[in-house]
Amino acid sequence: MPRTDPMPEKAAITQQRTHEQKLDQLAEVAVKVGLGLQPGQELLMTASIDALPLARRITEHAYRAGAALVTTLFTDEESALMRYRFAPGESFDRAAAWLYDGMAAAFKSGTARLAIAGGNPMLLSQQDPEKVSRANRALSQAYRPALELITRHQINWTIVAGATPAWAAAVFPGDAPDAALAKLWDAIFEASRIHTTDPVSAWKAHDADLRRRAARLNEKRYAALQYRGPGTDFRLGLPQDHLWLGGGSHAQNGFYCIPNLPTEEIFSMPHKDRADGTVTATKPLSHQGTMIEGIQVRFERGRIVEARATRGQEVLQKLIETDEGARRLGEVALVPHSSPIARSGIVFSNTLFDENAASHIALGQAYASCLRGGEKLTPDELAAKGANQSLIHVDWMIGSDRLDIDGVTASGSAEPLMRHGEWA
Ligand code: ZN
Ligand code: ZN
Repeated sequence: MPRTDPMPEKAAITQQRTHEQKLDQLAEVAVKVGLGLQPGQELLMTASIDALPLARRITEHAYRAGAALVTTLFTDEESALMRYRFAPGESFDRAAAWLYDGMAAAFKSGTARLAIAGGNPMLLSQQDPEKVSRANRALSQAYRPALELITRHQINWTIVAGATPAWAAAVFPGDAPDAALAKLWDAIFEASRIHTTDPVSAWKAHDADLRRRAARLNEKRYAALQYRGPGTDFRLGLPQDHLWLGGGSHAQNGFYCIPNLPTEEIFSMPHKDRADGTVTATKPLSHQGTMIEGIQVRFERGRIVEARATRGQEVLQKLIETDEGARRLGEVALVPHSSPIARSGIVFSNTLFDENAASHIALGQAYASCLRGGEKLTPDELAAKGANQSLIHVDWMIGSDRLDIDGVTASGSAEPLMRHGEWA
């Protein structure tokens, strides 16, 4: 995407604003642009206790926008680790199902959802992969009814990031804690377009750009994408009724939201049975507190038949064994290599940022909204059209400045779509 704001402006403006003011603007963008919160609507927010200052700013903006009630669930990483140290073995097959059922009930009654992302990407890296995997599985099962309402886009929702000391230390290990935290906040503000004179307007312009790009791809009606790059030779089929989405969209409740802040991707649904060839990841994958590096997988008719990683192989193997859909693809996304997040050169070890720095694919659950009329189809009807179903949805990055992608038309002819990681 071309930047809508010139770089030289940045230094002058950010110097004029205090951290508190930028935090406040991030909260305003999250509520007005990301969430599109409506007067009278309830809001359910989740946040780390380390993100308390941002959570409070968001709460204020939500009430000023007319929220009827804001309910925030705070989590704490230290407490999460205590479970691994002291809890009995049976703990790892448990999840607070009553809580997630409550979330699903809230979404059904129209409550909007905001998540503040950010935390130690390596939190669970020293823990037993078996326990981590069981705990994730139990959590995914308990969360599924609520998550389905999100993937079907029943309500307006958004994810925004807040820097935490542990996350900052993982991203900038060479810096003192305060300096690392300041650097991470800067990177978040920049990627979230808070450095512009009018962040709300900058977001509206960027959103329109993404939607135009998606509309152009939708006119093409490609049958497949062909990827070529170092360690990658891969063809990915698209369902007949696939839709490319980018930026914001209207939820089923009629409210417009932009689900990810930041967002740079144009994404769609791959056909679950039509992936063939070898794909090599171009960035490490940070998954639920562990790091998987050097991923290379081979697909046959949509299914992973071989998976390797130079680090975290066991975690990768457990991940794709979660269920049948965990070894098939549920998302395909295109991001130019020149996106602002890619240009920052920072590896955030956080999907919200890293997936917006490179073209990617996701293992697991597909988004029904990526099919024409998909939100109204039953799970069986969705599957018949090629939509994958799984307890997991894990994005991994395959884009680089050495990746070429062709769009393959229904008649089989190939058109250049991306060259050296940029739109052709
Ligand atoms: Zn994505
Ligand atoms: Zn994804």
